[in-house]
Amino acid sequence: MKIPEKIRISGFDFTIEQNDPNLTIHARHCAGLVYHDSCSIKISPDLSQEHKEESLLHEMIHAILRERFHFFKKDWLDEEDFVRPISLLLYDVFVNNDIGIVANKMPSSICILGYKYDINLSSHPVFHNGSRVYFVVDYNKCIISIESDDMNHQAVHKIILDSIIEILHTRLGNFDIPSISDGTTSDFIGILSRGLYQIMKDNNLDFYRGRCSCQGQCAMDASLLSATDA
Ligand SMILES: [Zn+2]
Repeated sequence: MKIPEKIRISGFDFTIEQNDPNLTIHARHCAGLVYHDSCSIKISPDLSQEHKEESLLHEMIHAILRERFHFFKKDWLDEEDFVRPISLLLYDVFVNNDIGIVANKMPSSICILGYKYDINLSSHPVFHNGSRVYFVVDYNKCIISIESDDMNHQAVHKIILDSIIEILHTRLGNFDIPSISDGTTSDFIGILSRGLYQIMKDNNLDFYRGRCSCQGQCAMDASLLSATDA
């Protein structure tokens, strides 16, 4: 994926600069930084292509959280404890799966932490512990069931992002989801997935390695990639 020169986040155009190899904060060297007030993201030019992409995703997540910072009880250093693992894990999912947000097409399955989860779009109501929910994950059979009746692709994609984040959190269970002053874990996941959806869609940002890094010029045929992406 080509790192763009600017990126729109919540209606603001953030410039992306790659000219400072000595990015530091609190005397600590870092791969990327986001400046919320001046709307800029800096990424170290000395990184590999993959590290730059993951750093961009990392700073996008910071930007989403800062946008809604008043929701969170915790301070910045705790935020880093969440952003670091979730950006690495999400990057791995995005690189290896054609999620289809940019192309506006539905994936039939998604590989997460080595497991293939089939996506079951259901016209019937979906329940979890007796309550009607938008999606439910069957962790034994590896099926994500989404009640998709009356929903457009955008709404379903946002729920797919919800389910990916929930699966990462449930399967690992050892990274810290920031506390929300007045909300639940699923409220927080909803904030993050909506922010990610908006940024990826508005900026045609597709981390999937089969699609973007080569701009369609690589030797691998795109139809073969989509046939084998499970
Ligand atoms: Zn960070």
